[in-house]
Amino acid sequence: MSVSSYRNSAKLLERSKKVLAGGVSSEFRKYNHPHAIFYTHGKGSKIYDVDGNEYLDFTLSQGPLILGHSHPHVLKSINEYSELGQIFAGQHIKEVELAEKINELIPSAELMRFSLDGSEAIQTAFRVARAKTGKQKFLRFEGHYHGWMDNVCWGISAPSAEALGDKDNPNVFPWTDGLPEQSKDEFIIIPWNDLALLRKVVSERHHEIAAIITEPVMCNSGCIPPKEGFLAGIRKICDEYNITFILDEVITGFRLSISGAQKHFNIKPDISIFAKAMGSGYPISAVVGKREWMELIEQSKVIHAGTMNSNNATIAAALATIEVLEKENPYERMYRLGHKLMSGIRKAAEENGHHDLLVQGMGPMFNTGFTHLKEVTNYRETFTYDKVKLGKFVAGMHNEGIRIIGRGLWYISAVHTEEEIDYAIEKATLVLKNLNV
Ligand code: PLP
Repeated sequence: MSVSSYRNSAKLLERSKKVLAGGVSSEFRKYNHPHAIFYTHGKGSKIYDVDGNEYLDFTLSQGPLILGHSHPHVLKSINEYSELGQIFAGQHIKEVELAEKINELIPSAELMRFSLDGSEAIQTAFRVARAKTGKQKFLRFEGHYHGWMDNVCWGISAPSAEALGDKDNPNVFPWTDGLPEQSKDEFIIIPWNDLALLRKVVSERHHEIAAIITEPVMCNSGCIPPKEGFLAGIRKICDEYNITFILDEVITGFRLSISGAQKHFNIKPDISIFAKAMGSGYPISAVVGKREWMELIEQSKVIHAGTMNSNNATIAAALATIEVLEKENPYERMYRLGHKLMSGIRKAAEENGHHDLLVQGMGPMFNTGFTHLKEVTNYRETFTYDKVKLGKFVAGMHNEGIRIIGRGLWYISAVHTEEEIDYAIEKATLVLKNLNV
């Protein structure tokens, strides 16, 4: 269904701006088309706004809604468990059940702790890595997003690829004002997917490096798979130099497989972070790892805390989500539908003369961007994307009732249907046909 108007959202945004900074509660929500949109409800693969517009939703709220909106089993479990109380400042049975389930599904999750979001769980991982190795810095990769805490707010925004400078000692730019200067000294950063470069930098600076952190698939700047052997190479380098391998599975966890990217790519990190899809939209994350690392928390050598951790609603949400994923095993279908949509969009682009549309990704998530490159392999190459053309494509899709993430990312859920994928291809064809830049 095409969108009729954004009038009511525009009015609410004006009202909202008077009391909420920028009218929103998270920076990314500012950048919808044509402005922040106000929604009334979501059901399955669809979401509805205050102007009565219906959207086929491929944002899945930036990833968490792997079972779509308002999944009945998830909501029922949350309601039932919340009837017993909200939070106890003490233990309860379902958090043990959830931990046992994750331990069963994810081999590297020998011990774990639950938190509320990806950003804070990542900081826990850094703390454990420093304590374990006695070293201070983490090595990370350009364009990878690891949350919005000070020490990871560098290296994700640059004015141009050229401004980044040398590959083995890149310039870093702050994403935001207000960062402490010294937070820049906490990390070493290099481009991703370049094993020779990684080996060179680590061999020179390993005595400083407590951890290497990576997204297994680079999802926050395009949707870039790791090159053959890259993740295994990180594992090897970490073993050689007493470095902790931290895998940021905030996006890939429960999405690439029920056991995450680590199962999909057959790698065994020391610590991993799960969030988003794990809780179907409820604020829960897990920092999980091998006993040798996580026992530092067990022994209270490393402190992890949080008043709201393991509250009833979030634990019930995660348990119910995993129950559905295990029972229905939607993964083969999500890959198939994702690849069908990717091929459909590629074909529509070719037929309409947009030979620069690159559709790249894994299936359960993928990216659309306009570039002369046949493949994008790291952050620097993402600067070849034509942002103006992408903006018009995303806006065109939105006006046709297809909601995707503004930077061109699409998420497939377990509840998208074959017909909806066909419908999205039909709409993409229409938008590409009328797209002139
Ligand atoms: N890591 C990755 C790969 C992410 O994509 C995100 C959020 O998008 C985070 C960490 C931060 O997670 P959160 O937004 O739950 O704090």
